[in-house]
Amino acid sequence: MPELPEVETTRRGIAPHVRNRRVAAVVVRCSRLRWRVPSALMRELPGCTIRAVRRRAKYLLLDAGEGTVIVHLGMSGSLRVVPAATPPQKHDHVDIVLVGGQALRLRDPRRFGAVLWTRDDPGRHPLLRALGPEPLEKDFSGARLFRATRARRRAVRDFLLDSAQVAGIGNIYANEALFRAGIRPQRKAGRLTRTECDHLVHAIRAILRRAIRAGGTTLRDFRSADGAPGHFQFHLRVYGRAGETCDRCGGRIRGRRLGQRSAFYCASCQA
Ligand SMILES: [Zn+2]
Repeated sequence: MPELPEVETTRRGIAPHVRNRRVAAVVVRCSRLRWRVPSALMRELPGCTIRAVRRRAKYLLLDAGEGTVIVHLGMSGSLRVVPAATPPQKHDHVDIVLVGGQALRLRDPRRFGAVLWTRDDPGRHPLLRALGPEPLEKDFSGARLFRATRARRRAVRDFLLDSAQVAGIGNIYANEALFRAGIRPQRKAGRLTRTECDHLVHAIRAILRRAIRAGGTTLRDFRSADGAPGHFQFHLRVYGRAGETCDRCGGRIRGRRLGQRSAFYCASCQA
């Protein structure tokens, strides 16, 4: 599943090719994605110029002046910039064709992705309005995390996965950040100290930035039609490594069920 770093890398990859480009047409080969691709997108987007490509949590926002295209990659979605004449493959469901002959093409085999259109402030869209702060921006801070976690009995890992508390952190990055900060995933969020909150915010940023950097080197070319982007290849220190050796202390990594998802940690490095 594309996580925040993959979405951010996609944003950086496509932005130079679509920014300041006028939309010539929208081609929808399959509108049955997670939500139906709205017909207003086909009517209203052509003729608009894409002014900017932004990201909010795991949503990409194409600012087209008259409105905003909201794209989510779901479980298996990817975006490419291809010559518009490139024959579509089986799962290439939506093209935003640009004046000049290129097209922004969504491939989504499992069709859990979304392509939506709003003429209002996208920040007030039902999918976006309840999102918490962006983890890479200043308003997500140790002080804020400390305030938000007071009296919370929920496991800190689950607190991090709650997009109303902090936007766009998936299970892999939550587990890796908790390892880096020395905090067990199952610890009650309300028991974090102020210093631990500072360390955790720092760890989350470091992990996400490193993954974005890795993405920048893994996915060099958003203009090739093949080469599906997967997870970035960077070294995971705890996630998926139950029973293996901790590379910090030599102890054993543990895996356990926590809520609906697995949690991974080192009992000696994390308290
Ligand atoms: Zn360890």
